[in-house]
Amino acid sequence: MNHADSTRVQEYIGDPVSESPVVDYETLEEVFEDIQKDIRFDHELNGCLNCGICTATCPAAHYYDFSPREIVQLLWTENLEGIYDAMQEKIWACAQCYTCAARCPFGNSPGGLVMIMRETAIKHGMESAKEVLRPFSRVMLKLITTGNQLAPNMITPDHFPDWGPNISRVDAPLPLLRKAIPMPTMNTMDTAWEVNLKTSVELYTIWEETGVLDQLETMDENLFDVIEDIIDEKREELEEWEEEQEEEDDD
Ligand code: SF4
Ligand code: SF4
Repeated sequence: MNHADSTRVQEYIGDPVSESPVVDYETLEEVFEDIQKDIRFDHELNGCLNCGICTATCPAAHYYDFSPREIVQLLWTENLEGIYDAMQEKIWACAQCYTCAARCPFGNSPGGLVMIMRETAIKHGMESAKEVLRPFSRVMLKLITTGNQLAPNMITPDHFPDWGPNISRVDAPLPLLRKAIPMPTMNTMDTAWEVNLKTSVELYTIWEETGVLDQLETMDENLFDVIEDIIDEKREELEEWEEEQEEEDDD
């Protein structure tokens, strides 16, 4: 490339898009635009000294081929191809601990930027996002339909085959341990805590209005169908209950 034709970024840091990008230029641009237009983007990225403090304190960087400094540099220099490439694997290594955000002298939040990139990967139906989320389908089913996260009875080797032998460390006498927790609502095994029907139905509206269910459909159509059926049933159940209440009030 003729230096007279290249920008400072291209000359000193790298060409943001090679002559044969892995995907077409329009897609690279669309992905970056979606990241950039996120309301959090300008708050999380204020420039970058390339000092590496974030990477030095990042637990994920110790174990994986992942560097928050690299992620921030890719975004700061608008390296479209590098950004797309990082979204195929690297961004999923972040533990979302936000140590980086607490340490960055520029007030950046690499972990927050990674979160935006992950959400964009989901929005674009990237295979990396599907692979990462696949083992969590039971957790998503539980969370979306009941408003609960992991229930104690889900912590078994069958439910988490991807955890391998490590599952034995949490395979404990759960009913007994559960009873040891003082709060009465925590004695249940199939939910983490009780969420009443009306609250669950309100949550469904939130999942719909915020686009969570659309994202789920992009990621896993079968799971989406199952969840839609459960939502319909629960809504009917609530309507019937409300009608019964009205009838009782009339009497
Ligand atoms: S994001 Fe912050 S801590 Fe990390 S390299 Fe850039 S300026 Fe340094
Ligand atoms: S939030 Fe992610 S990038 Fe930041 S220190 Fe934690 S693991 Fe590393």
